[in-house]
Amino acid sequence: MRLQHTDADEQFRTEWVAWLDANAPAPEEIAADPPRSSGYYPSWGRQWVNRLFDGGWLVPGWPPELGGRNATARQQLVYFEELCAHRLPRSTNWCAIPVVAPLLVGYATDEQRDRFLMPTMRAEISWCLGMSEPSAGSDLGGLRTRAVLDGDRFLVNGQKIWTSGALDSDWCVLFCRTDPDAPKHKGISCLLLDLTLPGVEVRPIDDLHGHPDLCEVFLTDVEVPAENLVGQLNGGWALTQASLAEERATLWIDQVQSGKRAVDALVELARGLGATSELGRCDERVRDIVAGLAIDARAGELLGYRGFHAQERGRSAPQQSLMKLYSSELIQRVTLAGGELLGPAGLHAGDHPAPDLGQGIGSGPSWLAQYLVTFALTIPGGTSDIQRNIIAERVLGLPRR
Ligand SMILES: Cc1cc2nc3c(=O)[nH]c(=O)nc-3n(C[C@H](O)[C@H](O)[C@H](O)COP(=O)(O)OP(=O)(O)OC[C@H]3O[C@@H](n4cnc5c(N)ncnc54)[C@H](O)[C@@H]3O)c2cc1C
Repeated sequence: MRLQHTDADEQFRTEWVAWLDANAPAPEEIAADPPRSSGYYPSWGRQWVNRLFDGGWLVPGWPPELGGRNATARQQLVYFEELCAHRLPRSTNWCAIPVVAPLLVGYATDEQRDRFLMPTMRAEISWCLGMSEPSAGSDLGGLRTRAVLDGDRFLVNGQKIWTSGALDSDWCVLFCRTDPDAPKHKGISCLLLDLTLPGVEVRPIDDLHGHPDLCEVFLTDVEVPAENLVGQLNGGWALTQASLAEERATLWIDQVQSGKRAVDALVELARGLGATSELGRCDERVRDIVAGLAIDARAGELLGYRGFHAQERGRSAPQQSLMKLYSSELIQRVTLAGGELLGPAGLHAGDHPAPDLGQGIGSGPSWLAQYLVTFALTIPGGTSDIQRNIIAERVLGLPRR
């Protein structure tokens, strides 16, 4: 089921799909140089971003001079549906287009926009997002990385952690404390940090499969030009909220599609096992579990459309937190069910490798390895617990903890 679209929206879909079919990078091209991290642009990835920009398909809701075509909200939904269905990333640098570009458009000075916006939109520079610290994740307001304004530069000292793609990024959107005496949310500023500056050290942290996407970033007496301050001095909190909102706003369609893909793979697995073992088709408990998960995937999709519809009518919708929570945990439940269905074989890829779920999750070697990797989906952009707090307070009206 989809939302009821107008003829103009369906025409938009047809045009977009035809364009994708004619211009998308070939699977062999992607396989020859896969994105090794979320800060890395393979040569096909740079070309892809530029092709999207020139075709007016990079940010369809924006005007043509910014790589768009003034698409309506509903057309943008169609855009993401088809992009996910084609399993293509818009950009291999995860935060450049959905987080950094809107931040520059919304808060940067004219000079900063002239310097950074087009190189970002043209994939000439790649970005990472420096928010989390060892003792400031969910409680981002507690961040301690210190930036002291000294004439025409900030002197920056501190440490960031879980910085996705930092090893391959050129620049970092860095949130630092500029007024230690102000209430914690009021003393934060946002700086654009050149990662090649002296005093910056990026150390990768291997994930379960040995991919060094997440990094620690150590900052020792780093001199950042004062002109790299974005927004107001000590006014960075508003920017942290804007970037997280962008991140959550684009996650749900992707996660809904990944959930559906995971369920499809589980159905295939159960069918295959049913033909060869006592499990699968023969076992009513397995049928119940698979059918329940398929229903949940469908319900998640409808929940997303419902929230979108409400937002379109100007009503506030809790869809972003609901969708982030629901779809990330659904993918977890599906991969766990696949692992349990396989029994000990769920520990090895063998004849039943885990499905590729996109979203940078890639394909784990086995269903149970994939299950462990999916925990990563429930953390960034606000953990599941934080989403539950938001839903409890803002949707159900429960008292704050
Ligand atoms: C794959 C991945 C990519 C990431 N990319 C980036 C990135 O690019 N840039 C960046 O800055 N950060 C990034 N992060 C970090 C991420 O934003 C933090 O991990 C997240 O905010 C949680 O913070 P934390 O790890 O410090 O955990 P904590 O905040 O210490 O939380 C620990 C546990 O306590 C729970 N908890 C905390 N507070 C509450 C509360 N108030 N109520 C109930 N439960 C609570 C949490 O849910 C969690 O289970 C990434 C993380 C992951 C996993």
